[in-house]
Amino acid sequence: MKSRVAIIGAGMSGLLLARKLRKSKIDVTVYDQKHKLGHPVRASSILSISGLSALGIDHTKIPANELRGARIYADGKMMEIRSKKAMAYSMDRHELNEMIKGECVDAGASIVTGKRIDADRLDELSGDSVIVGADGFNSTVARKYGFGACAQHVLTYRAEYAADFEDGKIVELFFDKAVAPGFFGWIAPEPKGVVEVGIGIGQGHGNSKAAYERLAKMQRVSEFLASARLRDHGASVIPIGLREKFSDNKKEVILIGDAAGQVKATTGGGIIFGGNGALIAADAIDRHIKLGANLEEYERLWRNRYWIDMKMHAAIRKLYSGLDARHIASLMGIMKTVKMDKFLGEYGDMDRPSLILKRFFLRGFAR
Ligand SMILES: Cc1cc2nc3c(=O)[nH]c(=O)nc-3n(C[C@H](O)[C@H](O)[C@H](O)COP(=O)(O)OP(=O)(O)OC[C@H]3O[C@@H](n4cnc5c(N)ncnc54)[C@H](O)[C@@H]3O)c2cc1C
Repeated sequence: MKSRVAIIGAGMSGLLLARKLRKSKIDVTVYDQKHKLGHPVRASSILSISGLSALGIDHTKIPANELRGARIYADGKMMEIRSKKAMAYSMDRHELNEMIKGECVDAGASIVTGKRIDADRLDELSGDSVIVGADGFNSTVARKYGFGACAQHVLTYRAEYAADFEDGKIVELFFDKAVAPGFFGWIAPEPKGVVEVGIGIGQGHGNSKAAYERLAKMQRVSEFLASARLRDHGASVIPIGLREKFSDNKKEVILIGDAAGQVKATTGGGIIFGGNGALIAADAIDRHIKLGANLEEYERLWRNRYWIDMKMHAAIRKLYSGLDARHIASLMGIMKTVKMDKFLGEYGDMDRPSLILKRFFLRGFAR
């Protein structure tokens, strides 16, 4: 039985796992190929308040921008979902990673940066350590241990600008199959006067940079860009859909976060689902090391807790991907007529559509 844990990848999933394992006094080392974690920034970090609290992330320790809702554009029409209170915070990914890294180090975890782990090094590490692949979409651990591929992925392109953006509390989303096939475009305010403009496209629809150029020509986006100063830009990938399997008790290997495909298919948000994967994994690893329990318990618990929400996210994405801008605009019209925009502003949940449904029915019965 192994007594230590080697985590490959110091993204949010790997770091949250290391922090929790140290609470159980387990010996843990996290390896990352990057010298500067989360840098260059290629992803936003918009996290729901309930998600932040479940993961024990204190957003007050770093600059965080309060978000109260979203404005959705399609075919020249707009629907706004606005809450009276904060729904989420956006943060800088590098600062977020550094904050959790500091908490890991304070708790006694070893963090080795600037070190890429290859298949040979995994063989060495697996001599005395449970191996955790927290190494993202292109996981070396998944390849080495024969886990299947993620079901689907989205190609993204994002650019960061220094700019003023309205009241800074609203994210803008652009749905148009001709511009962002299989996903959507966005403008999202971040802390410290930074605004992100980004786009995602489904597989088989060309490259994301070309899609970004189409987005930049949309009227609302080009108006914003006219007075914005470019700071950084680049492409990335979001896995959409779980791997067929993400734990192997015999090999004493598990995958968490993007490496496992623990991402919301609707928005590509993966920190909350991946972070919760890390918390569930920490308990399973603790029981495995101390009591010899089966590591695959982690996968069973994760699937039990999130399968309805994963299915609902996938179904919502399928719906909006199949509609052209005109039909999305009609759907928004219907939603406004039945006051769904107001309902979502009051009772919406970014992470768990199953909770929105539950609140919708409970409210219906309560009337
Ligand atoms: C444009 C964009 C916007 C997004 N917006 C949001 C959002 O607003 N909210 C949200 O919740 N999620 C968002 N996401 C998704 C989110 O970024 C991911 O779900 C999250 O980063 C997954 O964390 P992770 O730790 O599992 O993997 P990653 O963040 O990918 O971290 C993996 C780490 O492993 C390291 N690594 C990889 N291979 C090796 C190796 N062989 N050896 C050593 N190190 C290695 C990498 O350097 C990296 O640091 C967005 C993604 C994109 C692309």
